[in-house]
Amino acid sequence: MKALMKKEAGRGMDGIVLCDIPKPEPESRELLIKVMAAGICGTDIHIMEDAYPHSVPVVLGHEFTGIVEKMGKDVKGFSIGDQVIVHNIIGCGHCHYCMKGDYVFCSEKQSIGVNLNGGMAEYVTAPYDHAMVVPESMKGKDIPALSEPLACCVRGVLEQTKIGPGDKVLVTGPGVIGLLCAQLAKLCGAYVIVSGTGLDKERLKLAKKQGADQTADQPDTLKEIVASCTEQGVDVVLECSGSAGAMAGALELIRKQGRYTQVGMFGKNISVDMDTICRKEIEFHGTFATAHSTWEKLLKLYQQDNLQLEELVSQRLPLSEWKKGFEMFQKKEGNKIFLIP
Ligand SMILES: [Zn+2]
Ligand SMILES: [Zn+2]
Repeated sequence: MKALMKKEAGRGMDGIVLCDIPKPEPESRELLIKVMAAGICGTDIHIMEDAYPHSVPVVLGHEFTGIVEKMGKDVKGFSIGDQVIVHNIIGCGHCHYCMKGDYVFCSEKQSIGVNLNGGMAEYVTAPYDHAMVVPESMKGKDIPALSEPLACCVRGVLEQTKIGPGDKVLVTGPGVIGLLCAQLAKLCGAYVIVSGTGLDKERLKLAKKQGADQTADQPDTLKEIVASCTEQGVDVVLECSGSAGAMAGALELIRKQGRYTQVGMFGKNISVDMDTICRKEIEFHGTFATAHSTWEKLLKLYQQDNLQLEELVSQRLPLSEWKKGFEMFQKKEGNKIFLIP
């Protein structure tokens, strides 16, 4: 089968090869999934650049959906033909964190598409207790390939941050993650302001279309908006850009005793004005990947069918054109790019 593999470290894009490898066989507790689509994510780029811990060789792709084609003998609760999504992080199953479903913090964790062969291939295998059947309304569509990034946002917005009706929420960085966080904050009943830069005009337009109350593409405009709709600053910041400048700006615009969640990763050390965090008594949270509880919430959201996901996918490219997709991602062209095997 065709599979996009990272074969060698230290070679950037040249270390990634579309190759022909044997179709995997599911182990006793695994599903064999025929992939419908796999999303390109910043993590794939970081793996390509050796800037994220991973194993080599490995098939990339942790954001995918597909159809169950074969099952190991101990699989329960699935049928051939089911369309599934997969919680991609697999832990030891018995440590402190695994017992809580926080596999991401297991010291022995392995992730599909990072250490285990992933979904940028015709087929992928996954343990059945990490797979979930998509709701009827999504069946046959490839949009559930957006589940993993959406789940990361569910973790950050619904599990790590307290947001209530009427809260003024500032989302900085209108990439796919920021746009999804803005939608989730709206579902919590918040008044949502989304900010970006001059390069984000189209993305901010999309944010508005998807329900954001205000958008700003310049720091001064953002300041004016926050001053006009709050007394002392926003109640909540969801920092999704991973940019030091956006963080500094947001710490200025958050009210005293506000809630701040860092969703975006910086990829390097940055300097932070910690005194502002102290003086304002800001409740500061990190968020990373997903917990098992997150996926339950995600399925409930899917059942309600009130998220606008389709317009976040800007391209669907055949897997053979992966290079074009990776380059577009690096140039920040469009939004989510799906590879179709
Ligand atoms: Zn991802
Ligand atoms: Zn564990």
